[in-house]
Amino acid sequence: MILDAIAQLKASVHESPIGRVPGLEWFCGSVIDLLSGPFTGLRTRSYWPELVAALIIAGIVFMIRDRKPGQYLAAFGRYCFPRSQFMHQSTWVDCKLILANHFVTPVTNFTWRLNTVWFTTLLLSAMTATFGPAPQSHEWTTMAIVLFTILFALAEDFGYFLFHLASHRIGWMWAFHKVHHSAETLQVFANVRVHPVEVMLTGPFKALTGAFVMAPALYFWAGDVSFTTILGMNLMAAFYGFVGGQLHHCHIWISWGSVLEHIFISPAQHQIHHSTQPQHWDRNMGGNFALWDWAFGTLYVPRERETLTFGLGGTSGQPHPTLRAAYLEPFWAVTPDFVKRWIAAATGTLSGSRR
Ligand SMILES: [Zn+2]
Ligand SMILES: [Zn+2]
Repeated sequence: MILDAIAQLKASVHESPIGRVPGLEWFCGSVIDLLSGPFTGLRTRSYWPELVAALIIAGIVFMIRDRKPGQYLAAFGRYCFPRSQFMHQSTWVDCKLILANHFVTPVTNFTWRLNTVWFTTLLLSAMTATFGPAPQSHEWTTMAIVLFTILFALAEDFGYFLFHLASHRIGWMWAFHKVHHSAETLQVFANVRVHPVEVMLTGPFKALTGAFVMAPALYFWAGDVSFTTILGMNLMAAFYGFVGGQLHHCHIWISWGSVLEHIFISPAQHQIHHSTQPQHWDRNMGGNFALWDWAFGTLYVPRERETLTFGLGGTSGQPHPTLRAAYLEPFWAVTPDFVKRWIAAATGTLSGSRR
């Protein structure tokens, strides 16, 4: 019903004088998508049922652990939405990035073709060339579907981990990922505080590792795979959204306990990832699963509740106090020194000529 209303609204925009100006129509369509996204779950990481689930989990933690006698709904509101987090300069930059990215990333996402379908087709061709035509000798039983769902979710998450690991280890990738880490508050908007170049890079990593599960599935299993594809792609993501994925970027300390935190990344573990303290740097880089961090030696399981501050730490200060800085500083950071010297010299010459 909501989708129908959105489609009708877009159709009326298309038929109006706005529809005669393609750029303006695209802009209006983007605004409609941006405003309706949280209610439809399309192109958004802020799907409202997931936010409600996060609020319910926060409510349970508040009632069981953090509520003081005499505290009720107003106190819960302040607990979930403290001014210190939501009125912070860093949070405003998050919001501006969300707005700007909504219009910028569809234009700059040059790697959109490197998706799961593309890598799967490539792998299938390689398998067919090496082993002959696909046998497709198995049927999709319930067990096969469940196994595929879990393996596909694991594969995609491993792709994200590899991307994240590379972003922390490779200098030019860190320059862009640093925009996410310069957030000094953790709240729902920080979840999508990412540079457009990071958006461009993440997809191919997840698509490549996902294809290593998808291609063998298509090669060996017969029948329509669309149902299983949908199940594999959406079910696990929805599951994590509902069990607290939205709380990964949240100021409330929520831990799953040391055993589960070897398997799943908890909100507390992602807070550790954003901590300014050097012993926490480059730790807990998994998206949903902690298994990869465990295997690669980057897992940090907190033994008890830790008091954290968020941001880059060190002596670099805040390199992204504005949207402009968040967009441009990474490009300047990856510019070779000789080019910087050349620009500085040219700028100096220009300044001199003005005087
Ligand atoms: Zn990171
Ligand atoms: Zn984060």
